Amino acid sequence: METKQFKAESRRLLEMMIHSIYTHKEIFLRELISNASDAIDKLYFKSLTDDKVGLNKDDFAIWIKSDPDAKTLTITDNGIGMTEEELENNLGTIANSGSFKFKNENKLEEDSQIIGQFGVGFYSAFMVAKKVTVISKAYGSDKAYKWESEGVDGYTITEAEKNSAGTEIILEMLDDTEDESYSEFLDQYRIKALVKKYSDYIRFPVKMEMSHSRPKEQSEEDKSADKPLEYEDYIEIETLNSMVPLWKKNRSELKDEDYKHFYTEKFYDYNEPLKYSHISNEMPAYNALLYIPSKAPFDYYSREYEKGLQLYSNGVLIMDKCADLLPDYFSFVKGLVDSEDLSLNISREMLQHDRQLKAIAKSIEKTVSSELKKMMKNDRENYEKFWEAFGLQLKYGVYSDYGMHKDKLQELIMFTSSKEKKLVTLDEYVTGMGEEQKYIYYATGESIARIEQLPQTELIRDKGYEILYLTDSVDEFAVKALHQYKDKEFRSVSADDLGIETEDKKEELKAKEEENSGLLTALSEALSGKVAKVVLSQRLRSHPVCLTSEGDISLEMEKVLNSLPNTEKIQAQRVLEINPEHDIFTKLKAISDDKNKLGKYAKLLYDQALLIEGLSVEDPVEFSNLICELM
Ligand code: ADP
Repeated sequence: METKQFKAESRRLLEMMIHSIYTHKEIFLRELISNASDAIDKLYFKSLTDDKVGLNKDDFAIWIKSDPDAKTLTITDNGIGMTEEELENNLGTIANSGSFKFKNENKLEEDSQIIGQFGVGFYSAFMVAKKVTVISKAYGSDKAYKWESEGVDGYTITEAEKNSAGTEIILEMLDDTEDESYSEFLDQYRIKALVKKYSDYIRFPVKMEMSHSRPKEQSEEDKSADKPLEYEDYIEIETLNSMVPLWKKNRSELKDEDYKHFYTEKFYDYNEPLKYSHISNEMPAYNALLYIPSKAPFDYYSREYEKGLQLYSNGVLIMDKCADLLPDYFSFVKGLVDSEDLSLNISREMLQHDRQLKAIAKSIEKTVSSELKKMMKNDRENYEKFWEAFGLQLKYGVYSDYGMHKDKLQELIMFTSSKEKKLVTLDEYVTGMGEEQKYIYYATGESIARIEQLPQTELIRDKGYEILYLTDSVDEFAVKALHQYKDKEFRSVSADDLGIETEDKKEELKAKEEENSGLLTALSEALSGKVAKVVLSQRLRSHPVCLTSEGDISLEMEKVLNSLPNTEKIQAQRVLEINPEHDIFTKLKAISDDKNKLGKYAKLLYDQALLIEGLSVEDPVEFSNLICELM
C-alpha cells in the first residue's frame, strides 16, 4: 500500500496544527460537525428533488460515539460522502493552498489566525488525535474508501466496506500529557457541552448515546427493610443541539457572542465582525444575518474574491454564494438570507431572473446602506475602520458603470482632509466651506506627505481652504464621476481656474504674460514635445515652478492609466507654470537673449517640476550634467 505525501503547504499546516500553541483545541469537534452538516445539507437538498436518495428530513443525523476504553471518538454523518478522488483532493491538500502560502510568507498572522482564517477545519483533528481514519462512501457510488493518516508522514487510501452514503471519522486520541488532557474530549458531558457551545444551531440533530445510571426498582420487602438503593446503567440516545437556525431564533434570545461566534465559524474569519445585523423583513419576506468584516479578506481586491450571500429556502441551503444578492460595491458583506418564498429546485440561471430574489437584493442593499450611514453617524471610530478596509471598493463603486451608483454612494465616501489630516465626509467638507469658497478642492499624489509638498496647493492653503487629499489611484476617477456634491463642483488644485483670483489679478497676470510672450514662447520651444505650453502661474507663492495639465486627463490619471496592462500610452497635456514673483523669473528675463542658456534653464525647471510631481526625470544624466554646468 502506497503512502502518499501531503502537498507541501498542507504538510506545513499540519505540522503547525500538531505542534500548535493553539489554545482552543476543543474547536476540532465543531469543525468536524460543521463538515458533517454541510455534507448532509448537500444530500438533503438532493433528496428534495430526487426520490432515489430515499431519505426523509428526519432520517438525517450526525452521530457522535465516544469509546473511552479504546480512546476513540467517532463522528458519523449520512451526508453526501466523498469519492476516492474527493478524499484525495479534499483531505490531501488544502483547498486554498495558494492563499495559505501568501499569508505564511508575509507573516501577517500568527499560526492560530491562519488556522481560523482558512477553514482548514478537518486538519484540526490532528490537534487532538494521533491517528485519523475517514471512511466514506459518496452518494451514487457503489464503492467506499478509507483514508488514514497519522499526521505529517502522509496518508493512505484503500477500499473499504460501507453500506450507505456518508462519512465516518474516527479519531484515535493522543495520550494525555502533564499539560494537556485529551481524554477529556471522550467524556460524554464534555462533548455535550461542546456541541451546545459551538454547534447548537446545526440544523440536523447531533446525536449521542449517553450512558446514565438510575436506581433499580426495589421490592416492597427491600423498601421496608430500608435497603440502600442499587443503581443500574442504561443508555439513552440524546439529541445534543437545539437545531433552530440562529437566524430563526428570537433576537431577544441571542447574545452578541452568539452572532459573533456564528460569524467566525461560518465565514472562516478569525477576526470578529465589525458589525452585524439580524433582519426579519416582511415585504419581501425573508430573514437575514448580515456581517461587515473588520478586515478585508486577503484576496478581497483580487479577481479570486467571490462575493455573495448564502441563500436558504426555508432553512435549506440552496446556494453558498449567491452573487445576485449583493451589488459589487457592497461585495464585502458576508451573511445569509433565508426566504420561504423561493422555489427549491431553481437553477442558477432562473434565479437571476427571479423577481422575489431581486426584491430581496434591493431590500438588502437598502439595509446595508442605511446601516453604514448609521455607523458613520453614531460610531465614527468603527466606520473609519470599515473605511480603511473597504473604502476603496466604495470608491470603485462611485466610478464604475459610468457613475450610475454615485448618488447612492456619495454620502458614504470619505477622504483625508488637509485640516488635521483626518478623514472627512463630503458633507462635512461642504458644511465647513465659507460663503466665498466656490469649489471643493482636491489634490492628488501617492501619499499625504507628498501632496503636502505640492506647490500647487500654496494659494488655496493661503486662503485657509480645506483640500481633500486623494491618494488612491481610483480617487480622482471617482471624484470626476461625482463631478459635484450638493451643487459644489470638485476642482483640482492644478486646475486652470481655481475660482480664487479676482478679475483684477487675472488681468494683471494676462498683461504680464503678454509682456513676456517672447520669453514664454522661447521656453516652450525649448521644451517642445514635453509640454503643451509654458505659462505664468497664479497659484504659486514660494515655489519657482510646477507642472499642471490642460484638458480631462490629469498627471495623476496619466500615471494610473499607463500602469494598467494593455492600454495605449496616454499623455496628459502638460503645462509648465512659472512663478512670476520668483527670483528665477527675473533671472530668466535677464538671459532671454541667450537661446542656448535659456534652453538649458527650461529643461532644468521642467525636470524640477517633474520631481516635485512625483514623476521621474526623462534623462537623469542630462539633468545632472546640466546642474554641474550651471553651478
Ligand atoms: P472546509 O470545510 O473549509 O472546506 P475542511 O478541511 O474542513 O475545509 O474540509 C475540506 C473538504 O473536505 C470540505 O470542503 C468537504 O468537501 C470535504 N469534507 C470534509 N468533511 C466531510 C464530510 N464529513 N463529508 C463529506 N465531505 C467532507
